[in-house]
Amino acid sequence: MRSALRSSCAWREWRGATNMAAEPDLDRLRRLVTELMMIPGLSGYEGRVRRRLARELDSLGIASRTDRLGNLIATLAGNNASPSVMLFAHMDQLGFIVRKIEADGVIRVERLGGVPERALPSQAVLLSIEEGKDVPGVIANKSHHATAPDEKYRVVPYPELYIDTGFGSAEEVLSAGIEIGTPAVYAPKAITMAARRISGTSVDDRAGWAVMIEAARRLKTISRRPNVHLVFSVQEEFNLRGAVTAAQALKPDIAIQLDIILASDTPDMTGRGEVRLGGGPAMSLYSFHGRGTLNGTIPHPALVQLMTATAKEENLTLQRSAHVGALTDSSYVQLVGEGVAAIDLGFPTRYTHSSLEVCDLGDLEELAQLTVASIAGINEEFSLDRDNYGQ
Ligand SMILES: [Zn+2]
Repeated sequence: MRSALRSSCAWREWRGATNMAAEPDLDRLRRLVTELMMIPGLSGYEGRVRRRLARELDSLGIASRTDRLGNLIATLAGNNASPSVMLFAHMDQLGFIVRKIEADGVIRVERLGGVPERALPSQAVLLSIEEGKDVPGVIANKSHHATAPDEKYRVVPYPELYIDTGFGSAEEVLSAGIEIGTPAVYAPKAITMAARRISGTSVDDRAGWAVMIEAARRLKTISRRPNVHLVFSVQEEFNLRGAVTAAQALKPDIAIQLDIILASDTPDMTGRGEVRLGGGPAMSLYSFHGRGTLNGTIPHPALVQLMTATAKEENLTLQRSAHVGALTDSSYVQLVGEGVAAIDLGFPTRYTHSSLEVCDLGDLEELAQLTVASIAGINEEFSLDRDNYGQ
């Protein structure tokens, strides 16, 4: 097996020029994740979040553009002789679309994305119309005093649920700007918890964006590295294919995707794996969607080797994840052109797709470190020839 990792002198160059003090980095990440989680951005309606991210890139002196599907793309020019890298995270979040407005003003919705039905009653939601005109609402939960014994432990299917906005008629709802097709999301929330942990409505994948921004800040200062395309992709929670148009246009050799990795250190996740929240960044060795979509990602061996060696060199603990039940848009990106060498990197996350997911800022910071150092380790000799790797 040939080593995929050269001496990461370019990474040292950045590190030498920068104060690696952890707390300011963590504070910056905390501020960014918290702010980003407060911006609604349902799949297909990523405009507000995209504009916020474009501003953030702009403040780093990085120009960006938007493709017709809505992906935000920026390129950090580097060495053309090295394999090019597409580093991406999805901008969108899951939620709902208004399906029907009843005469009494009650709103029925369709699910968009993997919305957990059993966690919906009593949730606060936000009907997303436009900045300054959004309408808050609550998903009704039948009055407990009127709940019959056989209803107590039943999950209410989403078609039976309804949103109460306070309006008493369809006319009032319509005049507030809500109509069939209006997007809605969990009411944005961000909670600072103990031990560097934060919770919020869309840790998936706002925390991934924050890591991307942090990585971009550092990659920009490294002169010897490959071309890096930053892609903030759309519609991942909807159909997992938003990033494909960006990959088709950019034709990267390598795709590194940043997203949640299921933490399995809570009592309800025993047996699902060994990923600990706060235990460091993680890479996925196998993902597959066991509920219909015959797709998933088995990472390219060169990238597994690169990440493993980089983590060791950087003194980072790299956790490993392999499971059925979730997948990311890397599964489609890897199929573009003659194939893109792909890997999913991530940060451990608890309570995924609920309105209050939890992640750890230390994991995010270390994921940024791993991402930057591994990309800095890709040079002209970095081989993507599968025959150079064991099996
Ligand atoms: Zn995600």
